[in-house]
Amino acid sequence: FILLAMAKERTELRHKTAAMTDALTGLPNRRAFLQDAETLLQQQIARDCPIAVLLIDLDHFKSINDRFGHAVGDKVLQIFAKTTRAGLRQTDLIGRLGGEEFTAVLSDAGVDNAYLVADRLRRAFAAAAAVVDGETIYATASIGVAVIVDPRQDLAKLITLADQALYLAKARGRNRVEVAPLEVA
Ligand code: GH3
Ligand code: MG
Ligand code: MG
Repeated sequence: FILLAMAKERTELRHKTAAMTDALTGLPNRRAFLQDAETLLQQQIARDCPIAVLLIDLDHFKSINDRFGHAVGDKVLQIFAKTTRAGLRQTDLIGRLGGEEFTAVLSDAGVDNAYLVADRLRRAFAAAAAVVDGETIYATASIGVAVIVDPRQDLAKLITLADQALYLAKARGRNRVEVAPLEVA
């Protein structure tokens, strides 16, 4: 009976993990990421520590799929997940929001630091995804950064600001980082 109970618990844990994890990249999925990010945001606000949100979107991803096939596209997503997770601290969060869009949350990062981290992630991905399966792809990503400047700013607000910065990064040529202007909520 004890063995059965343990097996049941293990199955439940596996289902819970599957429900929180994106199958392709192994990163937390949107739901899991938003939950964890909310918790981290509240902790940082309580400690009066800075926090930064990065919104990351792969560049011209549709044409990568079109030119090299969906399987190569999937591999590019996996390379992104691997290099980006490896480029962050354990205390930072990264998740797949959906499609070729990802979000990261950096704890204890002000504007300068967040920009440096984002640009390092951008360069690491471009280097890792230049050649995939022998094909020269030159996959890149654009990143929008928003830093909390007021404890009343919630996660949704920070993501909106990061999204506006991401839009600028795309408009200004892609494969680049833009930071949202500091504004009080
Ligand atoms: P932009 O530089 O403006 O971001 O252009 P884009 O082509 O990256 O943007 P768009 O939103 O038009 O295309 C996103 C593409 O991502 C379309 C979709 O088929 C592809 N995609 C989404 N999820 C997956 C996936 O899991 N695997 C693969 N291979 N492709 C995916
Ligand atoms: Mg997109
Ligand atoms: Mg894109």
